[in-house]
Amino acid sequence: MTALDTELQIDRSKLKVSDEVAVQITKMNKWFGTFHVLRDIDLTVYRGERIVIAGPSGSGKSTLIRCINRLEEHQSGKIEVDGTVLSSDLKNIDKVRSEVGMCFQHFNLFPHLTILENCTLAPIWVRKTPKKEAEETAMHFLEKVRIPEQADKYPGQLSGGQQQRVAIARSLCMRPRIMLFDEPTSALDPEMIKEVLDTMIELAQEGMTMLCVTHEMGFARQVANRVIFMDQGQIVEQNEPEEFFNNPKSDRTKLFLSQIL
Ligand code: ADP
Ligand code: MG
Repeated sequence: MTALDTELQIDRSKLKVSDEVAVQITKMNKWFGTFHVLRDIDLTVYRGERIVIAGPSGSGKSTLIRCINRLEEHQSGKIEVDGTVLSSDLKNIDKVRSEVGMCFQHFNLFPHLTILENCTLAPIWVRKTPKKEAEETAMHFLEKVRIPEQADKYPGQLSGGQQQRVAIARSLCMRPRIMLFDEPTSALDPEMIKEVLDTMIELAQEGMTMLCVTHEMGFARQVANRVIFMDQGQIVEQNEPEEFFNNPKSDRTKLFLSQIL
C-alpha cells in the first residue's frame, strides 16, 4: 500500500474545467529580504481546476498561494485574479480577498467564539450582512460540511477534523470563487484526514476552483486535474496526475516521488 492507494469516492463526471481564466500569474518574483523565494512563476489557473502543489519543504509552496490573496506581497511580475490585478491598491486587495478563500494547516478558528460566530463574524463585519441572514448562510455551510449540530460549541470542544471542516465552512460563508488550501490535513490524525478530503471533494464536484498544497498524493492522483511540482522557488514540472506520477520528467521530481511514495 502506498500513499497513492487510498480510495476516495469521486463522481468524475462532475469535475469540469472551463476555458475561463481564474488566476493568471506572469513572470512573478518574490524576495524575503535578499532571499529570492519565488522565481519567474508563470501559472494560469482555469475555472474548475483542482491543482495540487507538491514539493519539498521550503520550496515556496505556501508563499506562492499566499501571494494569490496577498497575504504576501510579490515584488515583480503580475498576479491577476478574476481580472483584478493585485497591486498595492487596497481596493483591489479587498476585491481579490473577497473572491479567494483560504484554509490553513492550523485551522485558525477564534477559540473564544462559537462555531456559528466564527462563521458569521466576517460576513457581518466585513460584508455588512444582516445577522440573521449571516446565521442562515453559516448553518447552510455547516450542514454542507456535516456538522450543523456543533454550531453552538466552541472550537476546543471539536476534533481536529471537525475544526478543519468549520474552517472550510467559514471560508465558504464569504462565497469565494477560488479556494486555497495550505496543507489542510497535515495537522490531523489519520482517521480525520478522510473526512476533510471528502469535504474538499464535494467542493470540487460543485465546480470550485482549488489550489491545494498537500502531501495527500491519493487526493492528487484522484481529484487533481494538474499536479505542480515546485523546488527552490520554481515550478520545475507540471502535468496531469497520471503522467506526473508514472512518468516524471525531471530528476528533482523523480527524487521527490521516490522519497514520498
Ligand atoms: P513551503 O511551503 O514549500 O515549505 P514556504 O513558502 O513556507 O515553503 O517557504 C519558502 C522559503 O521561504 C523557506 O526557505 C522559508 O524559510 C522562507 N520564508 C517563508 N516565509 C518567510 C518570511 N516571512 N520571512 C523570511 N523567509 C521566509
Ligand atoms: Mg508550506
